[in-house]
Amino acid sequence: MEQGMIKNVSVNDDLGPLLDLAGRVGCDPLLTQASTGNISLKLDGALWIKASGKWLADASRGKILIPLDLASVRATIRQNIDPAELYPDASIETAMHVTMPHRVVLHVHSVNTIAWAVREDAAAQLGTRLQGLRWQWIPYVASGLPLAREISRVLAALPDTDVVVLGNHGLVLGGEDCRATEHLLNDIERRLAIAPREAHPADYALLAELAADLPWALPDDDAIHALATDPVSRKVLEGGFLYPCQAIFSDARTRELFRAVPDTVPAAAEFTDRPFLLVKGRGVVISQAMTPAEIAMLRGLSQVVQRVSPSSPLRYLTEDEVAASSSTAAYRYRELANASHA
Ligand SMILES: [Zn+2]
Repeated sequence: MEQGMIKNVSVNDDLGPLLDLAGRVGCDPLLTQASTGNISLKLDGALWIKASGKWLADASRGKILIPLDLASVRATIRQNIDPAELYPDASIETAMHVTMPHRVVLHVHSVNTIAWAVREDAAAQLGTRLQGLRWQWIPYVASGLPLAREISRVLAALPDTDVVVLGNHGLVLGGEDCRATEHLLNDIERRLAIAPREAHPADYALLAELAADLPWALPDDDAIHALATDPVSRKVLEGGFLYPCQAIFSDARTRELFRAVPDTVPAAAEFTDRPFLLVKGRGVVISQAMTPAEIAMLRGLSQVVQRVSPSSPLRYLTEDEVAASSSTAAYRYRELANASHA
């Protein structure tokens, strides 16, 4: 975008509140994990949007926003081209941000929202809890243009919609300014809050024994151990993929990755090429090569599965959806792996 188009922007007046909001959202692991989640502001013909791979949590420390020419991005979508392809420096969810008509648009991978959005009966469950809000439900659809089209469709039916819950994905909301958007986010979070199940504490002695001879480390966040110590969480994970971000660990044995292995040292020794190991009933060890982004994603997954009720009917991604999202996931993976976190 031409520098001339942005010269009148007063960073303090217009982008300051956006960056403050981005920082608060980015520092809450229940709302965003690693470089997931994004924010945008439509201002004087420009779309200021989070740059690809940046972490919202770094909003106060680095340059996380880039300006795009709003009319050009809209034209790109009309031509059926994903703006993320044309502007690779911009968020991969740029099409969604442009399609939402609001001045401020915020997209989060809220663990409370996702815990509802992975249910077969999500629309009914959310209907009770979000009553009175101008919200709509979109069953799972791949990110990028397909998702932007679905958002267009629901907006055409109810143009004053300002909250959209995305099946097996997260939440997008918009407002006239940052204050209204944050207020709405807090309201949704309160309505959708689920207390996580209490999990068995980890067996630190056994995990330390595994880490002593093998290339494993213990995660800093104790909540991650629930993936292996909580039998309900293990069962939920065994059923399949709940959302595409799980595929950032994608490789031939991805499904296996989320299955707990027996709690013996010889068994653990078989899996030293894995990024992490769920040790049945005992806890989680992580590879010393695991990136902060991967750890953040694993921590988010743990928070989601601890909020999924054992009796709820779950809607896992289909094999086709996992396959179709694998290129997006690979893109994200690179994005995450290359992302510098201040
Ligand atoms: Zn997303």
